[in-house]
Amino acid sequence: MMLQTTPEEESFRAEVREWLQANVPRDPRPTDGKAMREYDLAWQRTQFEGGWAGISWPKEVGGRGLSLVEQIIWFEEYARAGAPRVGVCFVGLNHGGPTLIAKGTEEQKAFHLPKILKGEVVWCQGFSEPGAGSDLASLRTSAVIDGDHLVVNGSKIWTSYAQVADYQELLVRTDPNAPKHKGITWVICPMDTPGIEKRPILTMVGPDDFHFCQVFYNDVRIPLSNVVGAVNDGWNMANATLGFERGTAFMAEQIHYSSIIEELIELAAETVGPDGESTLLQDGEIASRLATARAEMAAMRAMTYATVSRAARGNPGPEGSLTRLFFAEAAQRIRKLSMDILGPQGLVLGADEGWTRSYMRSFAQTIAAGSSDVQRNIIGERVLGLPRGPKAS
Ligand SMILES: Cc1cc2nc3c(=O)[nH]c(=O)nc-3n(C[C@H](O)[C@H](O)[C@H](O)COP(=O)(O)OP(=O)(O)OC[C@H]3O[C@@H](n4cnc5c(N)ncnc54)[C@H](O)[C@@H]3O)c2cc1C
Repeated sequence: MMLQTTPEEESFRAEVREWLQANVPRDPRPTDGKAMREYDLAWQRTQFEGGWAGISWPKEVGGRGLSLVEQIIWFEEYARAGAPRVGVCFVGLNHGGPTLIAKGTEEQKAFHLPKILKGEVVWCQGFSEPGAGSDLASLRTSAVIDGDHLVVNGSKIWTSYAQVADYQELLVRTDPNAPKHKGITWVICPMDTPGIEKRPILTMVGPDDFHFCQVFYNDVRIPLSNVVGAVNDGWNMANATLGFERGTAFMAEQIHYSSIIEELIELAAETVGPDGESTLLQDGEIASRLATARAEMAAMRAMTYATVSRAARGNPGPEGSLTRLFFAEAAQRIRKLSMDILGPQGLVLGADEGWTRSYMRSFAQTIAAGSSDVQRNIIGERVLGLPRGPKAS
């Protein structure tokens, strides 16, 4: 599948390339805490000031109002320029913001969307709970209506970047007596509200890597005007969010992997193999794995284009799981290959993101945004229309 671009789109590409060349920050991205937040927000602000934030977002909310093809061109050039990952801006830009665009009130859009685009705020996602991950609709964090507020009690877990976030897309149970999909509400939670406690969780990536938190809510009062959609209609909102998260949210990362393969090929060409003479690129097994990875990323690219043409007609829907599943598993194979090329060098953790930290982070690919098993269930049941499996007791 080829993406046919028009002369206008190609001139857009040239403009993007020139701007990125002049503006991509070259200092390494800090991997933790306030410094990471400041770095990611500053880069988002630079993109906004340059006129490059929200390329496919509607003009009335501060975006450029361009097509998803232009968005892809931006991501392709972004990867080619070696620009920093989206980092703490991920949720706001890739699924919080898009959910508000699709389902938010005019007031919610006017207040939040410009702040996200300008790099003024960080959003996080409070969906998973200790007893509700894959089976998200089992969530138990409760909210009762008290006057014009919701009062929230409970706990969320694996909340990426909660420690540096200003707002959260939060799912709460507002009707404990309704069938489990029917009594849920999607609400914007300001993270500085009294009663919120964040406990960072250490990951295996390193002693300084606190990617996510467990978050506790103790009588947290959130204005009812922060509800997105209607009270008790949160499952529909959550599906919109997950459609973006599994469909288009990882587009930049998926495109970025094509550049990673090319870097790996260079690395293999520079690395002398165990015989002390030939390079690892001359090693048949490594060369064949690199070729497979390159072909897989070309296939990935075709799937991304297909997702984009669906997303252009609205939310990408359950088909987003096809791309998410294929990408998550291919990314893990590619990261494993990088370790096999590096050999003992791969044991060095290093201060910045680098090959080793990225390899360790890749284990999360098949869990975050829904595990591979769950994506397979969605593909089987909602894309292919296969019968549902027996219910777990
Ligand atoms: C790096 C990272 C970042 C994350 N960030 C966030 C975040 O910001 N916000 C947020 O809300 N959550 C976040 N998560 C949580 C993530 O969404 C959940 O971990 C994921 O949905 C799986 O849920 P669980 O961990 O409870 O595992 P479980 O649901 O307990 O699953 C355990 C195992 O059982 C399998 N399984 C479960 N149900 C089925 C089924 N029906 N059929 C077949 N197999 C099944 C799973 O595939 C898995 O292998 C993050 C996770 C990671 C790893």
